[in-house]
Amino acid sequence: MTIQYDKLFIGGSWVSPSSSRTITVVSASTEEIIGSVAEAQEADVDAAVDAARTAFDDSNGWAHWEPAQRAEAMERFASALESRGQEIAQRVSSQNGMPIAISSAFEATFPAYLLRYYAGVARATNLEEDRTGLLGGTIKVRHQPIGVVGAIVPWNFPQSLAAFKYAPALAAGCTLVIKPSPETVLDMRLVADAAAEAGIPNGVINFVPGGREIGAYLVAHPRIDKVSFTGSTAAGRSIAETCGRLLRPVTLELGGKSAAIVLDDAELDLATIGQKLFQATLLNQGQTCFLGTRVLAPRSRYDEVVQTFAAMAGSLKIGDALDPTTQIGPMVSDRQRNRVEGYIAKGKAEGAKLVLGGGRPAGQDKGWFVEPTIFANVDNNHTIAQEEIFGPVLSLIAYDDDDDAVRIANDSDYGLGGTVWTADSDRGLGVARRVQTGTIGVNTYLLDPTSPFGGVKASGIGRELGPEALGSYQQIKSICI
Ligand code: NAD
Repeated sequence: MTIQYDKLFIGGSWVSPSSSRTITVVSASTEEIIGSVAEAQEADVDAAVDAARTAFDDSNGWAHWEPAQRAEAMERFASALESRGQEIAQRVSSQNGMPIAISSAFEATFPAYLLRYYAGVARATNLEEDRTGLLGGTIKVRHQPIGVVGAIVPWNFPQSLAAFKYAPALAAGCTLVIKPSPETVLDMRLVADAAAEAGIPNGVINFVPGGREIGAYLVAHPRIDKVSFTGSTAAGRSIAETCGRLLRPVTLELGGKSAAIVLDDAELDLATIGQKLFQATLLNQGQTCFLGTRVLAPRSRYDEVVQTFAAMAGSLKIGDALDPTTQIGPMVSDRQRNRVEGYIAKGKAEGAKLVLGGGRPAGQDKGWFVEPTIFANVDNNHTIAQEEIFGPVLSLIAYDDDDDAVRIANDSDYGLGGTVWTADSDRGLGVARRVQTGTIGVNTYLLDPTSPFGGVKASGIGRELGPEALGSYQQIKSICI
């Protein structure tokens, strides 16, 4: 049975859309249609922005509530999401192919963690501070909510990445219009249900399912105050241009091509580090922005590192995303699989050595699957080492010493994530400090609510998560007395 929604969540209720156009959602594992959702048009975005504007401008409304009152509503929202956790995980996995073990562990839980975390941040943050002016008088420094936020979300971790935005924005007192990606619109409906059940006031959170045109329309909308975008670097550049022209604040979480640096003293026993290596390099079959998809290996142990990664990737269970034992599901779409296969062909053509995979797994007649793929003898100038593939493809690059490893790691347009693998964590920390990136792990990679997350260079502008993210949804105002 397919899931069908013919209404849009705008202004706190389910309203009829302005047109009969719909988005059809297809399962990445089975290629079967699993649902359809009303597609927002420009008039629906106008209505959603009006609802968010009205809610924000209400002098007794959300923006003016005491932080503790907002925090209570956010905690109710968290509970309402938790009660839908299993259904959220099912929907995410059946749409985008994320193995359900991963969607259950992250997508079903992280948004509620974030809402509770930012409820705590809201309670603990002083919104107004008095400073004694150096030239006399008192300066009141106020942190006010920035206004109506246009939030644009990709399909790869749709629940968590939406919550990266709405949790701090709600804590700050902002209202939102959220545009989910067309591939993942069914799970977003559960977030709207949870917000309504939790008594988040009408118009504080609105959803406009649609593609890139409707996203671009939202970004340029005259009545929003801030844009928060997660997605590709190409789309991010276009959004940055619009926001530059409008002088509109924008946070951009974009692509990555991070380095996993294996130092020459690293422990390579897969029984000890296999799961962590998998999570840091191939999670969600490579469709995760922060993964270390360039593996930098010391020349002295190069063959051993290649064998370790080939053994790790070769042992992963490929299958239907809804099978709880699956570790590698399908690509999100036929288009994404074609893109990944194009890069695999390019890797071979440019002279890299295919060590594992490279094709479609046997026995998977349906679904957009690609085998976990390992290339050795990759030069950092190769296309597969420079461009984001967003699939289960790792490039193993040899280096001479730690300085050379850092040089290669930094020889990238991107700077989002990364890891260092070593038996000596002080040495690992020293290397991690020298890598030009927004986040990096030593012998692990963790996304934690408290740790600011984002990129440098073409990986983006600004930070999400951590108490710092609250500030990106606030405007600072000084009142001199
Ligand atoms: P995408 O840029 O094609 O789309 C992302 C979202 O933006 C979708 O909702 C899409 O409809 C919308 N969109 C696309 N073009 C737009 C435009 N010009 N104006 C407004 N909205 C537009 O990216 P994708 O393929 O959905 O996601 C994969 C990409 O996202 C990868 O590059 C990945 O690295 C990146 N990503 C980054 C992070 C991060 O936190 N840095 C996290 C996850 C994914």
